[in-house]
Amino acid sequence: MPGVAEAGRRLRDGDTTAVRLLEGALERAARYEAQVHAFLTIDREWALETAGRADADLADGIDRGPLHGIPIALKDNMCTRGIETTAASQILAGYRPPYDATVVARLGEGGAVVVGKTNLDEFAMGSSTENSAYGPTYNPWDTTRVAGGSSGGSAAAVAIGSAVAALGSDTGGSIRQPASLCGVVGMKPTYGTVSRYGLIAFASSLDQIGPLTRTVEDSALTLEAIWGHDPLDGTSFSGRYPDPKSGLSRGVAGLRVGVVKELAGDGYEPAVETAIGEMVSRLESAGVEIVEVSLPSFEIALSAYYLIAPAECSANLARFDGIRYGHRGQGATTEALMARSRAEGFGPEVTRRILLGTYALSAGYYDAFYGQAQRVRAAIQEDFARAYQQVDVLVSPTSPTVAFEAGARTADPLAMYLSDICTIPSNLAGHPAMSLPVGLDDQGLPVGFQVMAPPLGEEVMYQVAAEVERLAGFDLSPGLQEVAS
Ligand code: GLN
Repeated sequence: MPGVAEAGRRLRDGDTTAVRLLEGALERAARYEAQVHAFLTIDREWALETAGRADADLADGIDRGPLHGIPIALKDNMCTRGIETTAASQILAGYRPPYDATVVARLGEGGAVVVGKTNLDEFAMGSSTENSAYGPTYNPWDTTRVAGGSSGGSAAAVAIGSAVAALGSDTGGSIRQPASLCGVVGMKPTYGTVSRYGLIAFASSLDQIGPLTRTVEDSALTLEAIWGHDPLDGTSFSGRYPDPKSGLSRGVAGLRVGVVKELAGDGYEPAVETAIGEMVSRLESAGVEIVEVSLPSFEIALSAYYLIAPAECSANLARFDGIRYGHRGQGATTEALMARSRAEGFGPEVTRRILLGTYALSAGYYDAFYGQAQRVRAAIQEDFARAYQQVDVLVSPTSPTVAFEAGARTADPLAMYLSDICTIPSNLAGHPAMSLPVGLDDQGLPVGFQVMAPPLGEEVMYQVAAEVERLAGFDLSPGLQEVAS
């Protein structure tokens, strides 16, 4: 399966059609879904109709841009008009939104073809896609292992080629961590640059939609198609947007790259540290100045996140009451009906977060927990600001480990929470960050390299990522053969 840029070239050269690209993606899905389970819904008819229209448009000389005719998978927490959207929760089983999320509307305007809706941890709460009410997604590189999460379905779909690109959402790492575990490129943009309208909310001050792709260039192309000011999102950024493609072939000579001291050591697999260290040395040979930087507040980022995210989720998920949409339980009174609907509809992790968040926000505890977490958030922003006076971008592993065995962390929420130790600081600060594969460990599992940049620093972030991609020469195809064997 080609990437976005490559498929677009073939399409315009007349070597393929949007319908053929879609059929290729659907064939991959037919072959691997039983083992991988990347999708919750595939609507063939809708997809074929859109692909047919994309071909007819091109024949009429109407070219809607880089995503025209490209098969794209959507995480199932983005609303699609008339197509079931569940956020992988029982409480939304059967829910068909009456409207499209802004990103879905933009994909439509860009001529993209939606292959289907991908699996996730329920309401995007998790790091392995094992919290889905509809069963886990498995890693295409080794189907006894997790795909990462919460956008595990989107990452797996891109890795096996049942989509050319995908959208995910990232609240604490949910695009970058599964991208890292599945050997694809995952990117979380600056907060406010991609509309959250129609994204089923988890923690609104952290949630951000972004692309999962095979290449860094594809990531920039997909990002450009979905971002931009949206009056329907009150936190949407209305200033000047960066040009992520502009630096792709510029090289890195003269740039300063900071290696984060706190994101190494205990808990990091040696193979991960080796792969990251080697890439840092190669960057140095390519002409960047490497600086070790310390961001002490990173040590407490995880604790702050696990107060702020549950607090916001407890408020956001109050709307699931069994009355307006989704699952309805039985109850003699309105209160009993609501309580029953929620008890039956939410899974254990979601319930745990609602309880945690409600407690943290309750009178008398607000300042001790939520207020304190917000102060940590401010300290993280200050640490980042200080670091960016010295360097252009920061780098680290994306995840302390490669893909872990399915079931290994399900009984231990804290171990699961630690999966996002490298990704959470960028969410708390609202900054862009991305992960791209730099190699395989000795078991043949992908290792992800994280590049972080200051707010609206997407240009320099992609500039560095493009060089890392060239230096790594990572090949996605062994993962595909793995599933095939
Ligand atoms: N794993 C983190 C959590 O469970 C992040 C999830 C996300 O980014 N959506 O909250």
